[in-house]
Amino acid sequence: MDYKDLADLIFPNSKPISYYEEKYPERNLKEGAIVTRFAPSPTGFVHIGGLYQSLIARKLASQTGGVFFLRVEDTDQKREVENGVVGIVNALKDFAIEPDEGMISETEEKGNYGPYKQSLRKEIYQAYAKYLIEQGKAYPCFCTVEEGEEMRAKQEAAKIRPGYYGVWAKCRNIPVVEAIEKIKSGESYVIRFKSPGREDRKIKHHDVIKGNVDFPENDQDIIIIKADGLPTYHFAHAIDDHLMRTTHVIRGDEWLSSVPLHLQLFHELGFKAPKYAHIAPIMKNDNGNKRKLSKRKDAEAAVSYYDEEGIPAEAVKEYLLNIANSSFENWRRANKEKSMEEFELQLNKMSVSGALFDMIKLLDVGKNVIASFSAEKVYEEAFQWAGKYDEELLEMLKDKEYALKVLGIERGNKKPRRDIAKWSDVKENIIYMYDEKYFQKDCKKEDYPYQVIQESQDVQNILTLYLEKYYQESDDKQTWFDKIKDLAQELGYAREVKEFKANPEQYKAHVGDVSTVLRVALTRRTNTPDMYEIMQVLGKDSVEKRLKKALENLDK
Ligand code: GLU
Repeated sequence: MDYKDLADLIFPNSKPISYYEEKYPERNLKEGAIVTRFAPSPTGFVHIGGLYQSLIARKLASQTGGVFFLRVEDTDQKREVENGVVGIVNALKDFAIEPDEGMISETEEKGNYGPYKQSLRKEIYQAYAKYLIEQGKAYPCFCTVEEGEEMRAKQEAAKIRPGYYGVWAKCRNIPVVEAIEKIKSGESYVIRFKSPGREDRKIKHHDVIKGNVDFPENDQDIIIIKADGLPTYHFAHAIDDHLMRTTHVIRGDEWLSSVPLHLQLFHELGFKAPKYAHIAPIMKNDNGNKRKLSKRKDAEAAVSYYDEEGIPAEAVKEYLLNIANSSFENWRRANKEKSMEEFELQLNKMSVSGALFDMIKLLDVGKNVIASFSAEKVYEEAFQWAGKYDEELLEMLKDKEYALKVLGIERGNKKPRRDIAKWSDVKENIIYMYDEKYFQKDCKKEDYPYQVIQESQDVQNILTLYLEKYYQESDDKQTWFDKIKDLAQELGYAREVKEFKANPEQYKAHVGDVSTVLRVALTRRTNTPDMYEIMQVLGKDSVEKRLKKALENLDK
């Protein structure tokens, strides 16, 4: 009786590993091509950190002519949530991060290196577990849960390193004959890796992000196949990233300390190890304390939050690139028109410790991103968002022709408007352009600028004169503005701000204050995009009605 008999008894139907090695050959890619992946577990909502990882992975694969794939790690079936896979696939879709291979829906996938869902790869893991058992590098362990707990309690009481190693690895030296008997008699078991490591020896490792790191060797006989026949994360990682021919494992740095174990697994399995790049998590400032963005505490940890708020996917991605490489910001400033795809991301320039998530900065990026959109694109995106989250806005946007004019104000020119950071800002920013909304409220005296104007009859004078003498819808912009200056002069205001500043005592105020009176009467705002364009879009009828209503309100 030898290891081979034991292996055949445990996994009688497994194929030889040469079958899989041939089925999933080395990829034929150019030198330097990065093959990498996003490998989430479908255990809950998609975390912004996961999006961050996949953005980085997608970009590096694209930059190098490599491959980015999506692998679903569902071996912990107790933790799986309903629609978990669809949630992941859709999140990537929403952010236009498209995998070259992997899951494309709950059940469908594309690519030649699948299945890309771990629960469908059981026989592959078992074939490699069998291979290890045959060589005496893995063994069945019959310890019960109670025995495990007892062992842990003893280790704790004696204050020694916890785990299944050395003298604590009770089943490691069970003779093959005995193990075979136990299995035949129906005892339940798991498969453990027989670690060749020693804790008092060190390994040196180079992480692409973290740099050189030293670790003690792994000496734990970890479980590789659980009682349900499925692998643990560690084992599945080694098999999958080998067979899928991953060159770079880009993952969260909570896995950094598992590197010694993973390198050992690769080595014992006869695989070439991939490069590792461990990404620091995105942090949050919580009353002066820096902590990880938490699924439980922070709404912005879930990628669905950005959709709900209407922060465009492009903005989120640009912001994440900012966090990834601090040089992105300068690049963006120098290359305003370029697509972010053209930015060369450098993995080894990523920060070793976690960057702080800054919502203000993200919204600022949002403003720039939306400012670069055409009116048509703003319309389409806002319309879609409104369809999901805001009925009133949806109603406003139904008249597409008018909405395009409104959204086109100060857009497509050199200095486009920057007042929209997210789709949920749109309503507030355009609501005054809609008569039915405008006429719902009165215009109060205090809304007008500058006390002198409020207290004199000048609001009335400005509005009346403008309506009766100066307003002409067909005027071009220059004529329109000259007329406002004429009006200012007629009432004793400076035609130019600088004239006023030179001799303030000669004037009541200046042309800017007169325009503001008109602006407030027309929009109820002191701040709007270009007033000439606003009046053109509103049209004569609406402009006149608004000015008249504002005049009536003064009598109240
Ligand atoms: N399923 C693991 C996780 O979600 C994947 C880690 C990895 O990328 O290897 O943390």
